[in-house]
Amino acid sequence: MTKLLQESSCRYKTLPVIDTMKRIELSSSTEAYIWAPRVLAGAQLEEQTAALLTIKGGLIASVAHVPRGELPGRITSHPGFYPLAEGTILLPALIDAHVHLSLDGESGQERSRPDESGEALLPRVRRHWEAYDACGIGAVRDGGDRAMAGLRLRRLLAEEGASGPWIVAAGQAIYKQGGYGSFLGPGCSSMEEIFASLQRLAAAGVDQGKILLSGIVSFEEYGRVERSRWTLEELKAVVREGHRLGLRMMAHASSAEAVELALRAGVDSIEHGYFITGEQLREMGARRIAWIPTIIPVAVQARNPLSRCRPGRRAIISRIYREQMAKLSLALQEGVSLGVGTDAGAPGVRHGESLLEEMLLYRRAGLTNRAILQAATATNASILGLDRHGMGTLKTGRKPRLIGVAGNPLAALEALKKVDYYFY
Ligand SMILES: [Zn+2]
Repeated sequence: MTKLLQESSCRYKTLPVIDTMKRIELSSSTEAYIWAPRVLAGAQLEEQTAALLTIKGGLIASVAHVPRGELPGRITSHPGFYPLAEGTILLPALIDAHVHLSLDGESGQERSRPDESGEALLPRVRRHWEAYDACGIGAVRDGGDRAMAGLRLRRLLAEEGASGPWIVAAGQAIYKQGGYGSFLGPGCSSMEEIFASLQRLAAAGVDQGKILLSGIVSFEEYGRVERSRWTLEELKAVVREGHRLGLRMMAHASSAEAVELALRAGVDSIEHGYFITGEQLREMGARRIAWIPTIIPVAVQARNPLSRCRPGRRAIISRIYREQMAKLSLALQEGVSLGVGTDAGAPGVRHGESLLEEMLLYRRAGLTNRAILQAATATNASILGLDRHGMGTLKTGRKPRLIGVAGNPLAALEALKKVDYYFY
């Protein structure tokens, strides 16, 4: 058993304090105990006090109420006993459902060039992954890159037996040649090529398939998005093939037209979905199709001093931002499986630290802290398919991938700015 493997630091833009986080590896431990003054347990994040978690064979074997003073000596003297400090609350580690590990988040210019190999990209991708690790984030879903560096890193980490954030990888994105996405994959010119790409990706071990249905949103003209190059029949066939290969299918859709196509074709999650309609959200709720609205890339542009120089542009960005914010509450009312993803790596969106910023935007949009925490833990785990692997919820039979923070995030999400304990 490894105890307090190493100390790492997490820096948040909004809180420029470097502090230490205790990292404790439990996945390979045969027996361990965590005692926490408070925990957020189960799907409803129910608050329980004086909780003793018994870990056996890398899973939570039980969660019991035992006051600190009543803990038996055989537990308090056990080498795998971790009592958390006064005022600490233990909860599932957060998950970011939409990131681009190969992009730097600075200018967006540092993209994989066609001649750049996966090997050359690997150090950068690893550095970005480490930013999630330093923030105590439990998992990320990587939207892929041309050289499949995200998938390579996932393999490498497994070979090294490294711990830290789990990567759910799309490998490369599938799109029609000539359309948006040249930094995410090679592009396909026929349906045969698309099927071959999907089969090649599945054989390479990707977890999900990603289809690009539209371009990105224009900040120069409200509502302008490059039209989708897909017909419904083509898209249906691709989604069917992805499902046959055992892949969940995520769709990059940045217009109401693209969202409509994605819905009709039966994808599993809709990414971005700017200009999504109330009607579409209702259908997504009824059919349990997830939505990852990625607000922060737009919020960053709305705050950008450069866009201030051009009032027209700024007005368009602000409008897209406000409309997306207004749809969050509606999505929850309609029963949509609402995830949290940052699009980290996009211009101005930093790896790791942006997840809390995205959650704070959900708060500003009127969602309760409980709903936001559920979205970033249990809902994100199910969107990523990690619930099957025991992640996203603190309860018996699940993996102890947990964080401990001072203060209660149900009262103020800012408590998540500083993670004191990271169990994995
Ligand atoms: Zn993206």
